[in-house]
Amino acid sequence: MGLIVQKFGGSSVADADRVRNVARIITETYRRGHRVVVVLSAQGDTTDDLIAKAAEINPHASKREMDMLLSTGEQISCALCAMAIEAMGYPVVSLTGRQAGIQTNSSYGDARISRIQTERIQNELDKRSIVIVTGFQGVNRTGDITTLGRGGSDTSAVALAASLHADLCQIYTDVDGVYTADPRLVPKARKLEEITYDEMLELATLGAQVLHNRSVEMAKRYNVNLEVLSSFSGNPGTKVKEVVKTMEKSYISGVAKDKDIARLALVGLEDEPGIAFRIFSLLAKEKVNVDIILQSIGRENKKDISFTVAKGDLENATRVLTENRDYIGFDHIDINDNIAKVSIVGAGMIHNPGVAAGMFEALFNAGINIHMISTSEIKVSVLVDLADADHAVRVTHDRFFGGNDLY
Ligand code: ASP
Ligand code: MG
Repeated sequence: MGLIVQKFGGSSVADADRVRNVARIITETYRRGHRVVVVLSAQGDTTDDLIAKAAEINPHASKREMDMLLSTGEQISCALCAMAIEAMGYPVVSLTGRQAGIQTNSSYGDARISRIQTERIQNELDKRSIVIVTGFQGVNRTGDITTLGRGGSDTSAVALAASLHADLCQIYTDVDGVYTADPRLVPKARKLEEITYDEMLELATLGAQVLHNRSVEMAKRYNVNLEVLSSFSGNPGTKVKEVVKTMEKSYISGVAKDKDIARLALVGLEDEPGIAFRIFSLLAKEKVNVDIILQSIGRENKKDISFTVAKGDLENATRVLTENRDYIGFDHIDINDNIAKVSIVGAGMIHNPGVAAGMFEALFNAGINIHMISTSEIKVSVLVDLADADHAVRVTHDRFFGGNDLY
């Protein structure tokens, strides 16, 4: 018996039947004697629909008003779920971010949780109530509603689990857990029983859309026991933790694909100190996150620097660099947004040389050209043409997991 935080994503609460299904999972946990705190996302595509609604009225609405609007989606799902639990005869209370004491900074649309005052939740739990909290939202020092960024309910759940010292944080979604690749793309992909925080973090950052990456960062920092599982199947999910059993581990845990990126190249830069600093400090000031960076060897005192950004940042990045063309000093900018990043992730590659070569070999055999490469201790990423991305994921997955039962 302990304290369990259960988070349900938008698809798990999309309609009345699903809300009732979630209510059953929650009350089942409660009946087993646990204290239960629930975090919900907005129903189905509610958040997207609200964004579309806003655009009809004012495509340049302020972020503050957007948060005022978007936060309502979670309020609806929480109230409805509380009603479903009431109807089943259990004590329950739903709380907004503010009522739940979730305080954030003032970055509307992308707020960070600064602290959680858990008294109210604790009081409700002491009364043996099931507590349902709106995901994705908090309140800033002025008392205004903020949201945590798309997909932010995972982060709400982990933050609550951390501050309440929960025994477990279960993230219920529409997939059975974390797979070695997207099963829609790679039918042979397998569900992992366990994965480390670091691997999960890489996978989440790299476009495996199971968990919000900030939630994984936070889970690692506060050592929150995480489990990703399906609200539909009842199957055991994937546990995310610090160290995993090594027996069934392969060198890599998964293959991920990110299509949401673009590559910029600044061509004809002076080959002198300070150039990279100028470029990337300008981008940092604009809050543009840069990923893979490649600098050419250069010729005749000129060099090129290429790097990738999220597609959403492309316009902004191009504008800043163009505006500062004289200050940076380059010939022209070359842009390619017809690319994708394919990555392998695995803590096992630290001690096993040749993993990267295995990936390159698989891509070579498939006739797929690699534009850029980047590596970290536990990841290898390559940039390929968008048209090659799915194929690249499949052949890479085959290379590491194909036909081999012990992985
Ligand atoms: N409803 C929000 C979104 O769609 C938050 C979430 O789902 O986690 O982004
Ligand atoms: Mg959602």
